[in-house]
Amino acid sequence: MNRILLEPTDFTGPDRARLTGRRFRHVTETLRSQVGDVLRIGSVNGPLGSGTVVALGPDSLDLAVAWEGEPPPPRPVTLILALPRPKVLRRLVADVTSLGVARLILLETWRVEKSYWQTPALEDEALRRAMILGLEQSGATTLPRLDLRRRFKPFVEDELPDVAGTGRRLVAHPREAEPCPSRLTQPLTLAIGPEGGFTEYEVDQLVSRGFEPVTLGPRILRVETAVAALLGRLL
Ligand code: SAH
Repeated sequence: MNRILLEPTDFTGPDRARLTGRRFRHVTETLRSQVGDVLRIGSVNGPLGSGTVVALGPDSLDLAVAWEGEPPPPRPVTLILALPRPKVLRRLVADVTSLGVARLILLETWRVEKSYWQTPALEDEALRRAMILGLEQSGATTLPRLDLRRRFKPFVEDELPDVAGTGRRLVAHPREAEPCPSRLTQPLTLAIGPEGGFTEYEVDQLVSRGFEPVTLGPRILRVETAVAALLGRLL
């Protein structure tokens, strides 16, 4: 946790916040903070600041909060990700958030197992928790916009033009693709497939809407590795 994120419900006064539970344990057990220590804090979807520990109890602590500046802006990237298996999903949502992706769309494709949609990891609270972990990790405060789309065809036909806008459009595909470009500065929409890959039909649908197939080379990466390697290179 590189920044402690505060929610409106944490505030006990205009510049006082109380931490309990996970964040309390982090401050007392991991950071071993004492009264007087200053912590890096942030407000979810709000500014960055510092919090001075002013009181330490057995299971809660109070911070005096001072706001200091704006968070790093999200990167102008929309990631369209075939819904991964639940175990991977939580970590991936956190990592994508840490990387500063502005918008994440979890999409059903032909090779996404139907049962993945039943996982508790897709409930609003669980997704939000994963995003908060990603923000705490990176020190940013802006939650990505996250959408779930169960139907590939209507999504691609009706929504994709607006979603992708005028920015560059790339689909990550290990084979029959150009080498992935690097250090893009313009807005970007990137599509990444499921463990089984996109079908040729799906790639064709994306290509016909201006998506360029790009590859990192002949080695096939796990989805979470591909996400990190692609975004690391593109950004
Ligand atoms: N079984 C599939 C691979 C799926 S890997 C196949 O043989 O095609 C899951 C996803 O990660 C892919 O759909 C792609 O979007 C991305 N990916 C994995 N390795 C990649 C690479 N070397 N280059 C580009 N994208 C890759």
